[in-house]
Amino acid sequence: MIQHEEYLLQKDTKKTSIKQIFLTNKTTSSNLSVLNGFQSITPIIVSAIEQLTSRQYLYSLTLISWLKVLDSVEPLLKHSCAWCPYCYQVWREQGEVIYIPLLWLIENVKFCPQHRILLENTCPYCHQRMLNFCQPGYCSHCGEWLGQRKPPLNLATYFSSVEYLENYQRNISCLQELIAITPSLSKRPQIQDVYLYLHERCVHLDEEGLKDLSFSFWIRSHLISNPQRCNHAYRPGISLDFLSEIVRCFNITPSQLFL
Ligand SMILES: [Zn+2]
Ligand SMILES: [Zn+2]
Repeated sequence: MIQHEEYLLQKDTKKTSIKQIFLTNKTTSSNLSVLNGFQSITPIIVSAIEQLTSRQYLYSLTLISWLKVLDSVEPLLKHSCAWCPYCYQVWREQGEVIYIPLLWLIENVKFCPQHRILLENTCPYCHQRMLNFCQPGYCSHCGEWLGQRKPPLNLATYFSSVEYLENYQRNISCLQELIAITPSLSKRPQIQDVYLYLHERCVHLDEEGLKDLSFSFWIRSHLISNPQRCNHAYRPGISLDFLSEIVRCFNITPSQLFL
């Protein structure tokens, strides 16, 4: 017996079925977001696929675990699939599995962290954007192989200041670690975990100490003075920027915060 079978069999026409997600509107961002991210039916869909495939822990291939931490209002996932041609090429030459890492689909991620080249989203042969559900490594329209070695870029030229570049790289490292630790989480992280950590770290700081924290105004006004207000109703999540700022300010890793 599959739970939530209405999503599979399209019994309830008001609900999005898995079939709809896979077969219709294949280029819409919402479908990418349904399976990988932050929509309310994502856990249901993933659970159904786990049952259908007899594979556990498929949720760790998605961002579901961070639903109660990151701000879902942000456009977290890209509108269409993106890829690193260098990664594809190396994986094929080395006989490795060719797949689409979750990191590539996240809106903030513009470059391959490993090869420092721009992630691509348009086929260099037919100039079309990939359908969301395509065979990794191949164009979903013309079928051409998308892998290619390219020289690394000087990322500094893409950012208006060193500060922006460092901020970008911090955010990406933070994202990489969030994705990496997902299978090791004993429970789904909650935004209160973050607030509690901040409260414990900051409640004893005086005005002078708080001044060193660039987000101190936020803590001062909403967290330290009103820690009891830090609940779901008050604020559903924090931005990736803010999370990575916490990591930087307190010199911790996301693992130390959530594991
Ligand atoms: Zn790469
Ligand atoms: Zn193509």
